[in-house]
Amino acid sequence: MAGPELVMRSTRVVTPEGTRPASVAVAGGRITAVLPHSAPAPPGVPVEDLGDDVLLPGLVDTHVHVNEPGRTEWEGFATATRAAAAGGVTTLVDMPLNSVPPTTTPAGLRAKRAAARPSVHVDVGFWGGALPGNRAELRPLHDAGVFGFKAFLSPSGVEEFPHLGPDDLEPVASEIAALGGLLIVHAEDPGHLERAPRPDGPRYADFLASRPPGAEDAAVARLVAAAERYGTRIHVLHLSSAGALGTIAAARARGLPVTAETCPHFLTLTAGEIPDGATEFKCCPPIRGADDRDALWDALAAGVVQCVVSDHSPCTADLKVPDFGRAWGGISSLQLGLPVVWTEARRRGHTLDDVARWMATAPAALVGLAAKGAVEPGRDADFAVLAPDETFTVDPAALHHRNPVTAYAGRTLYGVVRSTWLRGRRIHHRGVLGGPAGRLLERA
Ligand SMILES: [Zn+2]
Repeated sequence: MAGPELVMRSTRVVTPEGTRPASVAVAGGRITAVLPHSAPAPPGVPVEDLGDDVLLPGLVDTHVHVNEPGRTEWEGFATATRAAAAGGVTTLVDMPLNSVPPTTTPAGLRAKRAAARPSVHVDVGFWGGALPGNRAELRPLHDAGVFGFKAFLSPSGVEEFPHLGPDDLEPVASEIAALGGLLIVHAEDPGHLERAPRPDGPRYADFLASRPPGAEDAAVARLVAAAERYGTRIHVLHLSSAGALGTIAAARARGLPVTAETCPHFLTLTAGEIPDGATEFKCCPPIRGADDRDALWDALAAGVVQCVVSDHSPCTADLKVPDFGRAWGGISSLQLGLPVVWTEARRRGHTLDDVARWMATAPAALVGLAAKGAVEPGRDADFAVLAPDETFTVDPAALHHRNPVTAYAGRTLYGVVRSTWLRGRRIHHRGVLGGPAGRLLERA
């Protein structure tokens, strides 16, 4: 093997076997060895000595809405991937909706890739979409390298991405099982939503009542039944209701291929603290109570929920009107996910090993990215360097995503991302970003 081109040295390197002092050797964009901290670098090889700053695997965010082409004024590849790089995220997987066209045909995927290719600062993969009418597109999309298929069980919010009706889920699940694919689902049951009160006006409590936890719980039960019947790998997106955790845990205990994710906002914010009219906190499913938040932490610790991903879903500021019925839903946290989660994780006695597992290793495993998500030989030299005990106050002006509306403005958080590395190359250092060095990824 050729010698290293770079050595990254820290007293705290987060590896799959735990955090320890180490020197990480890099060659050809990959990690070639994790050596003792005191291991000498070969003569002439640059050593990046991080001192006590923590070397984490670059984060893998499998739930990002970039919106380009078509709604690029909401978010684009250049801005989203700049925010990712600044936040220690080295890989993101783009959701198939809110762009126009959506990624529901091979032509839609080509349009996405063409828009992304010249401008990505981190590695980017793509989800496809499963609609009521596009079953014939699933195999070509799969063959073109999408990481799986997203579907909604209730209205998505945009008309070009209709939800699966009562008779659509089963054939889609069957088709995706035949492909050996992955079905990822926005799990809210439309019947429960229709029976709930309308969400008009500025009061958060009214919005919360319009998206009852029973809608999530019923939808998750339906997904588990589909996984059981067809053997489809099914992933529950952005879980917010604790009521569905027992169903997921029982399904996994029976060996069903069901996984789940939650988001920084569900782990750190609660309904009671959201001011009236503060629609920067609106998302679907909604931020619920402290009991749900606490149960989600327990579920992460127990492995019932495996991933923490942003669901970064921006829009222009004018669409965040102070009326929860009319405002666009979505919370933008691509750049802030790591410090947001770490601040609450450390308070609850979790470690950066846990955070790396939830925000890098598990999302990489979900989409089969064997080269991403951990600091170990053979993986890409993608790193986030974190000063975990340093604090900062969230200033929207320091955010790189296109419309820097944030639910975290003014919060003081632990964990400053000092630098971010992609395949052994520093792409962000103390707020300064390099050129677009990302690649487009396909499912292996
Ligand atoms: Zn989403």
